[in-house]
Amino acid sequence: MKEDVCQRLSGDLRHGRDGLADDRRTALRIVRVGGDATIGGDELAIIAGPCAIESRAQAFAVAEAVRRSGARFFRGGAYKPRTSPYAFQGLGEEGLRILADIRDAYGLKIVTEALDEAGVDLVEKYGDMIQIGARNMQNFSLLRRAGRAKLPVLLKRGLSATLDEWLLAAEYIMAEGNYRVVLCERGVRTFAQHTRNTMDLAAIPAVRRISHLPVIVDPSHGTGKNYMVTPLARAGVAVGADGLMVEVHDHPELALSDGPQALTLDQYQALVDEVRAIHEVITPAPVG
Ligand code: PEP
Ligand code: MN
Repeated sequence: MKEDVCQRLSGDLRHGRDGLADDRRTALRIVRVGGDATIGGDELAIIAGPCAIESRAQAFAVAEAVRRSGARFFRGGAYKPRTSPYAFQGLGEEGLRILADIRDAYGLKIVTEALDEAGVDLVEKYGDMIQIGARNMQNFSLLRRAGRAKLPVLLKRGLSATLDEWLLAAEYIMAEGNYRVVLCERGVRTFAQHTRNTMDLAAIPAVRRISHLPVIVDPSHGTGKNYMVTPLARAGVAVGADGLMVEVHDHPELALSDGPQALTLDQYQALVDEVRAIHEVITPAPVG
């Protein structure tokens, strides 16, 4: 019952049928992160950084490039949801401390994943935005905990989630009182063998039509291949995404996770220049 109410509210907000003043509606669409950064407003949000925080030197080398690009958000996993339990699992709390130091050094907002409810406590302590990963999209106790968190939430689409399942997962967070939710399309599993996942570009206008929540794209996990990341990033912005999440590494060949999809620092800067140019052309993105 509650979910129906929330869903209706979301759709009405998007279409202006809610009886709210324009400025109030716009304010609800914009998610504020770390005080002075936003996702869902006029500015294209760029969240960039390595898949995992591997060392202080690696994280700072990438953060320096991210800061130089003008992006406002730095990503990096301290707790990694790996397919194999024997693969690198992340540095844990030490990784979070490195992220907090990056925020202090560069003023970047920290977006990092919480794998479980205890992880939310830690991200609240060190970060600016809680990422909930694809594998956890329907971890309902985690969603509820994130709904009681004091930070905004980046909710990735599940590996094979329908739009309804994804939006209802967001409703779990909002039903607990946290309305600062941003959706992230990161590709879904299909029969395709030429990519790691199939980035569902049509999900962007579909979400924008039925929900007021900002939605970004992650062409790194969406393709899994370095040479596809920039083309799909361009496409994501062209179809109306509010922002991008992209993985960058100072030495992709040495990465402890997701090296094949990591951009070099130079490739990353070129991507930022291109997507900004595209965003200028299509702003304001038409909403169906
Ligand atoms: C990540 O962002 O590094 C990640 C694990 O993403 P996803 O949950 O989309 O697989
Ligand atoms: Mn990754």
